[in-house]
Amino acid sequence: MSRFLYLDNAATTKTAPEVLEAMLPYFTEKFGNPSSVYQFAAGNKSVIDEQRDLIAATLGAKGKEIYFTAGGSESDNWALKATAEAYAQKGKHIITTKIEHHAVLHSAQYLEKQGYEVTYLDVDEDGKVRLQDLEAAIRPDTILISVMYANNEIGTIQPIREIGAIAHEHGILFHTDAVQAYGHLPIDVDACHIDMLSASGHKLNGPKGIGFLYIRTGVKIRSFIHGGAQERKRRAGTENVPGIVGLGAAVKRAFASMEERTGKEKEMRDYLIGRVLEEIPYTRLNGHPTDRLPGNTNFSFRFIEGESLLIRLDMKGICGSSGSACTSGSLDPSHVLLAIGLPHEIAHGSLRLTLNEEITREDIDYVVESLKEIAEGLRRMSPLYEDFMKKQAGRASEKNR
Ligand SMILES: *Cc1c(COP(=O)(O)O)cnc(C)c1O
Repeated sequence: MSRFLYLDNAATTKTAPEVLEAMLPYFTEKFGNPSSVYQFAAGNKSVIDEQRDLIAATLGAKGKEIYFTAGGSESDNWALKATAEAYAQKGKHIITTKIEHHAVLHSAQYLEKQGYEVTYLDVDEDGKVRLQDLEAAIRPDTILISVMYANNEIGTIQPIREIGAIAHEHGILFHTDAVQAYGHLPIDVDACHIDMLSASGHKLNGPKGIGFLYIRTGVKIRSFIHGGAQERKRRAGTENVPGIVGLGAAVKRAFASMEERTGKEKEMRDYLIGRVLEEIPYTRLNGHPTDRLPGNTNFSFRFIEGESLLIRLDMKGICGSSGSACTSGSLDPSHVLLAIGLPHEIAHGSLRLTLNEEITREDIDYVVESLKEIAEGLRRMSPLYEDFMKKQAGRASEKNR
């Protein structure tokens, strides 16, 4: 029987059945516009506010601090561009990192074109921001620090509490892209001094095209979409009621099951990491060994092209993703893998497998056996590997002489 193993949960997740079920009535009988005055639609206004309160409670925030958006990318764009504009009088310097998602990086680059200055912090070899680098980058005109909670490629979790404390001490706003972390790790916006936080429904078994931006009371931020009075006049447009209800159901599910679910993921993650590093030679793990997302694994295989690996895994029914971007027409490997110091050729041989709680030990065994076979096959075809093995053999015989 042919297998199908979806191991790309950092790219997107399956919508949970209870999420879909919660959404359905809002496509059918409960289709009213929440802004309408009649009874029939009024219920949709209150159901939105219920989701706001539910989400706020998971963060230690207030309902009115949750603004629904069309997903993580929009939340990131809003957080950066609109605060930059609102605080331009105070200064035009922003600090972020080299390993952010492109929704943050490209927003920052856009702001540079608008006359803002951006410092992109380096990270260490595990992908963590160094606090002393952050301190050193702060200037009197710094208005915003944006550091992701956990990285989508290598899974590294940042020292968010410490970063927040530094931002707070200097009176600088702190935004975090928590798209990979929210629903997978506990988050407390007060303890971490987070002023803005981005999250997305489809990364936690919710629907695509819905997310939110948490904006702490008192933060001046410009409206992102102008029009009607929705989202306290800051993000106009008729609310995506089914999406918001689906997001709420996904959040409820994610927080109720967090401990058990992530416990299973961590166990399978560490089993996969252990076996791959032990059984496939010339392989390394990318990202922090312990401070990493529960379901994230990211490996580099020397003498192997990530794209070829993906294609062969696909033939075995395994969906993964690669750190190289050949398919998108670019020859540059992932900016994250380069930022942790990998040389191009090693970054090109990278593979990200991101698990969910359904993965079993037997599934992992199948993945490891498949990887071993594929890696051997690809290396046999690699002239670089052949050269390397000849040199190794030469060295060994010299030693024996
Ligand atoms: C997926 C992702 C985003 C983008 O979210 P969308 O809802 O797909 O727009 C932003 N940041 C990170 C870290 C992500 O993993």
